[in-house]
Amino acid sequence: MAAGVVIVGAGLAAAHVISTLREAGDDRPVTLLGDEGEPPYERPGLSKSVLQAKAEADSLYVHDRDWYGQHAVDARFADPAVALDVAQHSVRLASGAVLAYDDVVIATGARPRTLPLPGIGLPGVHTLRRIPDSLALRGAFREGRRLVVIGAGWIGLEVAAAAREAGVAVTVLESSEVPLRAALGDRLGRYFAELHRRNGVDLRTGISVSGIEGQGSVAGVRAGGDLFGADLVLVGVGAVPNAELAEQAGLAVDNGIVVDSRLRAHEHVFAIGDVAHAANTTLGRRLRVEHWDNAIRQGALVGRLLLGEDARYDWQPYFYTDQYTLGMEYVGRGAVDDDVVIRGSEEAGTFIAFWLRRGVVTAAMNVNIWDVTEDLRALIGRTIDPQRLTDSGIPLTDL
Ligand SMILES: Cc1cc2nc3c(=O)[nH]c(=O)nc-3n(C[C@H](O)[C@H](O)[C@H](O)COP(=O)(O)OP(=O)(O)OC[C@H]3O[C@@H](n4cnc5c(N)ncnc54)[C@H](O)[C@@H]3O)c2cc1C
Repeated sequence: MAAGVVIVGAGLAAAHVISTLREAGDDRPVTLLGDEGEPPYERPGLSKSVLQAKAEADSLYVHDRDWYGQHAVDARFADPAVALDVAQHSVRLASGAVLAYDDVVIATGARPRTLPLPGIGLPGVHTLRRIPDSLALRGAFREGRRLVVIGAGWIGLEVAAAAREAGVAVTVLESSEVPLRAALGDRLGRYFAELHRRNGVDLRTGISVSGIEGQGSVAGVRAGGDLFGADLVLVGVGAVPNAELAEQAGLAVDNGIVVDSRLRAHEHVFAIGDVAHAANTTLGRRLRVEHWDNAIRQGALVGRLLLGEDARYDWQPYFYTDQYTLGMEYVGRGAVDDDVVIRGSEEAGTFIAFWLRRGVVTAAMNVNIWDVTEDLRALIGRTIDPQRLTDSGIPLTDL
């Protein structure tokens, strides 16, 4: 009997490999290995609906727990892979079991980066990646409590927004002068800074954290010579790809597992989602994308490749965020020093920003304007007069 597919990492990308296979009627053996004791789930809600106590964690599941068995998936949600042998086509699990595979998919995601700071291990210092992390933070949010967020990235800012909505006093400490600068550049980074200040966040930029203080539990964060009082702290300083299994197996690892445009690290070894540093044929370079849409699409792409189709990693990246009453979607890849033009009103909070490099559209972001992603995606790579881009009278489809 065929050994089938072994998928390491029971996350979003993994779930979409399986859905693609089973929706196509493919019934090869599939084994899914997880380490959280949970079926695959969507993490965005951990910093939004679940954190805001508007939804419970099981609402995040891609499929409910029973779906896997019902679809002939050997799902082991709490038996992680500890070794991969690409010559033997086998995976060893923490339980000691050794599984043979025809194809293996590494979908191990990423984990929160930590900082080598004094006091980082104090009770009350949190990171956010998993369901228990979100529930712990949510349980600690109370009117009048003080939260210090270290790092004004997407997760840090979403947590800041959820905390403000719960009546928590929030300070955000960011080392660069402009938050989200690497993702959005100066102009839109400042827009997000203002959004948070308007909502009562004490956002400090250009400030470096030197330690976390407290006796028995956290009492404050030391930064720039000041002590910022805190009842809880969120460290949101990025994520590290879980690439150890690949590294130990002798596969190329460089900011994630290096894969080609068919997401292959080696013959019959794929890597997808947050852990993959993948060759994007449209952008002509490798990307490691830590976003929801990427995990879904790369999972589906590997599913199609396993079904015998030929397809490539050829799409523009996409992501979204929700903070307070702002919802946005971003498609493409702008550079920090690209030109930015705006269609609509930043003051009113409904606009589309375009990034341009030498007149060519590199990215677009719609803020509180919906159902335009595919129209915006179609503009990327085209040379368009900025005056036409910013003229709301010209439909996007006529540009
Ligand atoms: C709080 C939060 C909010 C987010 N919000 C947004 C958002 O608003 N918009 C957006 O676009 N993206 C968002 N993201 C990003 C998005 O959730 C990720 O890009 C996506 O989850 C990546 O999916 P993945 O399958 O690659 O990895 P994951 O979902 O991390 O799944 C990987 C799984 O593999 C497990 N694993 C690791 N090693 C092993 C092993 N050896 N054996 C077995 N299992 C293993 C991990 O524990 C994990 O369960 C958010 C992420 C977080 C954490």
